[in-house]
Amino acid sequence: MTAGPDDAGPAAPTAVPCSRCGRPVGLGRGEGYLVDIRAVADPTPPVFTGDDLSADATREIQRLLVRLRGMSPRRVADQVYRRRLFCLCNACYALWSADPFGVSRT
Ligand SMILES: [Zn+2]
Repeated sequence: MTAGPDDAGPAAPTAVPCSRCGRPVGLGRGEGYLVDIRAVADPTPPVFTGDDLSADATREIQRLLVRLRGMSPRRVADQVYRRRLFCLCNACYALWSADPFGVSRT
């Protein structure tokens, strides 16, 4: 038995909504951009003072563990790394790329 057109499973999407305005962005038509934003916590090794080094590290570790117990794994992960993907139509991409932080808005 061969698979017919009805057995092909769900069709691949031909458009996705713009993350900003909601208008459909046709895939494979040059109608938009995939914006991939990654945020990483400061990767610089921490700076320790003499006071830090003379402090009781065990006590500090226990304090941090207590603090982490009340947080979801997702929230902990979001504090060190976060990735967001957006699909923007060409018009919204032009606005976003000209002012990604929205600082020129009044
Ligand atoms: Zn848009």
